[in-house]
Amino acid sequence: MSTLEMELAPPELIAKYEPVIGLEVHVQLGTRTKIFCGCPTSFGAPPNTNVCPVCLGLPGALPVLNREAVELAIKAGIALNCAIRPLSRFARKNYFYPDLPKGYQISMYDEPLAEHGYVDISVDGARKRIGITRIHMEDDAGKSQHEGFRDSDRFTYVDLNRCGAPLIEIVSEPDMRSADEAFEYVTGIKQTLQFVEASTCDMEKGHLRCDANVSVRLKGAEKFGTRAEVKNLNSFRFLKQAIEYEVARQVAVIESGGTIHQETRLFDSNTGETHGMRSKEDAHDYRYFPEPDLVPLHISEKWLNEVRSAMPELPAAKRFRFVEVYGLREYDAEVLTSTRALAEYYEIVAEVSQDPKTAANWVIGQGGEVAESALPARHLGELVGMIAKGELTGKLAKEVLPKMIETGEPPSVIVEREGLKQISDTGALAKIVDDVLAANPKQVEQYRGGKTTVIGFLVGQVMKASRGQANPAAVNELLKSRLA
Ligand code: ADP
Ligand code: MG
Ligand code: ZN
Repeated sequence: MSTLEMELAPPELIAKYEPVIGLEVHVQLGTRTKIFCGCPTSFGAPPNTNVCPVCLGLPGALPVLNREAVELAIKAGIALNCAIRPLSRFARKNYFYPDLPKGYQISMYDEPLAEHGYVDISVDGARKRIGITRIHMEDDAGKSQHEGFRDSDRFTYVDLNRCGAPLIEIVSEPDMRSADEAFEYVTGIKQTLQFVEASTCDMEKGHLRCDANVSVRLKGAEKFGTRAEVKNLNSFRFLKQAIEYEVARQVAVIESGGTIHQETRLFDSNTGETHGMRSKEDAHDYRYFPEPDLVPLHISEKWLNEVRSAMPELPAAKRFRFVEVYGLREYDAEVLTSTRALAEYYEIVAEVSQDPKTAANWVIGQGGEVAESALPARHLGELVGMIAKGELTGKLAKEVLPKMIETGEPPSVIVEREGLKQISDTGALAKIVDDVLAANPKQVEQYRGGKTTVIGFLVGQVMKASRGQANPAAVNELLKSRLA
């Protein structure tokens, strides 16, 4: 590695430039079997056991497209606001690698499944739309294992279980201008695809992998700079790190009079650096041609509608509805729609409590990590409902909540047993109020002498005497009428 590669530009130089980023996101579709054969996609099976002549690329074996994979890909396309093409075509992308026994990947080229989509992101409160150029289907390669074996110094092992796993590749427009925007974009993709259950997007299992195309240009310049494509970004943190490193590296190269070459670089998570791997191949290097073993993929309007009607309400529509129908703040609606489980949980709490706004506060107050098993939505809804109906003060509700989680009991049972019900009944309150007035003649005199603010003290005394169970509004009323 040259020393030039090591020198990163300082922040004041970086500030003169604008990063331009486009992402290629590979997502494994959540089918039980592979894209062109019946082998299971299960993770963690012993090496080379989930294989057959088709995914091993043995001579004469023919691929058959998995219908379920197409439907999940369509769901992903719709959810990412793409137009689904009525006709798409598989193509061979030819290259040699030990984890690719066929000698080519079955992908799509100029006739992809979907195109013209977008993801809306917000960074520091500013909203922005990131374009999606296209989504195509393809099969995954196997895994080369360079480490972890006794003889890894001499051998590389190949596990072909992943060969033929169904993928979609989502290619963005070069619309992102910072690592933070890239982070938000991938987060948006992940949330959306999990929402429609197209994929688990589990990065630890490699179900979401990302390549970042990065270039820089002087601020104000119109023309894009030459890009480098950084591969091997298998976590959100690495994606951010790699982009930041790459921007600082490219600025340093340009500022020292050098030029950026279009190349493929590899991110090293141990050092946080990217290293040149090979000069970037162009499409013609792959000798793409239409896959002769598969017919073109026709997606009829009827099929499309069937898939569409089986889809859940999408996050953006949910967010809109939470604001319009429940009157939530935009931010709260966004938090509550971040996962499908949370949104569904919230809707039960809102419905049971009949008080959607207070319900939002309590669900968000649980850290957005509410587990249905620890705190059933119906129970939380009941608790919020008791506050709304004035049966329980907010303060006491906060004490009841941990007991609900501990015992698994609904709030009504706990409130009943511990005698925590809010006292709104005037008869019961009157007794406490009279006792407090009798015990505090000085304050009573002050109030009657015109120092009406002293009522706050008296309310406090009643609340204390009732062990927090008195309804503060009722106490206020009662005190005022007694003192008049
Ligand atoms: P390839 O298949 O060669 O990687 P694609 O046309 O699929 O090429 O584009 C790859 C990605 O590169 C896209 O996400 C695109 O937005 C992005 N991209 C294109 N030009 C630039 C650039 N100058 N700087 C940053 N990203 C770019
Ligand atoms: Mg690429
Ligand atoms: Zn197979």
